[in-house]
Amino acid sequence: MKGICSKCGMPTNIGRTNVWQSNGVIVGKYPPHLRGTIYDLDEIKYLFESISRQTGLDISRLIIEGKRKDALRFISSMLQHFREVGGGTLPPPRNIYEIIFNLCKIWGLGAVEILNYQEGETIAIPAKNAYFLPMFAGDAAGVYESIEGYRVIPLWEGDESELTLTLKRGEGEPELEERIEAEVERGIPSREGGDLWYKLCGECSAPLELSRLLSWDLENALITEKLTGNRAFFHNANGLFAVVKLLVEELGEDIERIILSSERVFAKNLYTRVRGATSLDAELNKFPLRSWGRPSHIKKEGGSFIIQVDNPYLDHLVAGRIWGLYEAFNQQEYIFGLESSGSGFIKIELDPLSA
Ligand SMILES: [Zn+2]
Repeated sequence: MKGICSKCGMPTNIGRTNVWQSNGVIVGKYPPHLRGTIYDLDEIKYLFESISRQTGLDISRLIIEGKRKDALRFISSMLQHFREVGGGTLPPPRNIYEIIFNLCKIWGLGAVEILNYQEGETIAIPAKNAYFLPMFAGDAAGVYESIEGYRVIPLWEGDESELTLTLKRGEGEPELEERIEAEVERGIPSREGGDLWYKLCGECSAPLELSRLLSWDLENALITEKLTGNRAFFHNANGLFAVVKLLVEELGEDIERIILSSERVFAKNLYTRVRGATSLDAELNKFPLRSWGRPSHIKKEGGSFIIQVDNPYLDHLVAGRIWGLYEAFNQQEYIFGLESSGSGFIKIELDPLSA
């Protein structure tokens, strides 16, 4: 099948355009060399639902803005690259949209086709299997804005399985947008080093382990984690990072507490379900493969653990997931402590809660 590696079965684009670094981070091979992450969609949805429920706030506006800025940055850089190789001119918009829709399928974001593209003030985009509506809508707005050169507001009808997204020229909230743009630009702190290496596919150069972890249904834009059945998606990491940073600024440490506790519950349920078919170490090893960060030092003292993770893609999300992971595999509740350095690593302390 076109676009699929005949050796490992993954879309060739994934391995050819990304590098799995030794520090637990996936980075794009081409400018702007953004960090990518292979998210657990079920986890991200659970997280945002928990935040909305517990704060009583609709945070979809913030999610849309974070993704819009993220897409704007990515697509603008892609267009710059096209201009350079095209001697200063760009391919027609229709061709650019086709390239992007193809990426949407490869990254598991949604199956999109433009039926009637006309340059103009409004565009309606039919889509299937959109990964998460606020994120998908933000992506679409950012893509359109980069190509057409004016700001749009995304509206939709239908649900994630089948919808029509409409993009209409309109103004936003400049103050919120400036703040989120600054966070997207600042990005995730990261440290070099690490000793990770992967056996790469001889044809597309993606880690072979990744093809054992995930399966791709390219036509329907679905990526599935084989072990859990959870849907996955591959995307820039900065947008979500910026959304969470702004939430913390607005709502304070409550957000960090909500992220930790909802991640703990999510991970504990997930790993309890699959515990018989895998191990704690095998699951930790999957973190850097997905660009979640690299568990670098694990110290065990009696029943307690200190776990250092380098380059977590979101400190509290990764920490809460590890908390639930240890509880599921060790069948033990832990008192949790977190040292978040703000400079590319976290330390998690787990002490057994004695009965
Ligand atoms: Zn391959």
